[in-house]
Amino acid sequence: MQRLLDGYARFRNEVFPNHSSLFAQLARGQKPEVCLITCSDSRVMPEMILQCDPGQIFPIRNAGNLVPPPGESHSGVTATVEYAVKALKVADIVVCGHTGCGAMKEFLERKHVEELPLVHAWLRHAGPSAKWLRSLFEEAGAISLEKQTELLIQANVMTQLNHLAQQPAVAEGLANGTVRLHGWVYDIATGEIIALDNESGAFLPLTVGADDENRRIA
Ligand SMILES: [Zn+2]
Repeated sequence: MQRLLDGYARFRNEVFPNHSSLFAQLARGQKPEVCLITCSDSRVMPEMILQCDPGQIFPIRNAGNLVPPPGESHSGVTATVEYAVKALKVADIVVCGHTGCGAMKEFLERKHVEELPLVHAWLRHAGPSAKWLRSLFEEAGAISLEKQTELLIQANVMTQLNHLAQQPAVAEGLANGTVRLHGWVYDIATGEIIALDNESGAFLPLTVGADDENRRIA
């Protein structure tokens, strides 16, 4: 905790005064460019990875970067997505999974079902396709847990994009062309992001500097 308090002191004494005009502007309101749905994992730090300032990313974080399906309206995630699209007019929504995701591993291994009942209740939002994948892995047997997790992380991003596309505010935005969806996976070991290519259905290295239509799911 002391590390955080020291950091706060540095922020107050050095960082904040050096960016006073930015913070004065932010005090008047926010206009983030992107809504980023990612895992709560402490190793995933979107503002660092994407080199963003405060005010640029509207984040939604939870275990497994999950979006409840449209039937579940009493969710902080769906309410926050609605706010991002309707109130903030965010044009791009990214679902970003990551390598070594503990939530996805737990979904596969089910090692702590009794100790983590709320986690498992939440992980049901990984959806039927994730359950199908898990049963396929159980039958296949020869696929390493590492590879299974990698595949599930990618499949989960696709499932969450599907859930997202069915949220009323997002569906409306997709229909009138004001919202675009993107699926990413961040590799903690290499710092690389791979993005879902809508044409091939494969995850390919994120194109830097290009607003490539093929990287859009919508
Ligand atoms: Zn995770």
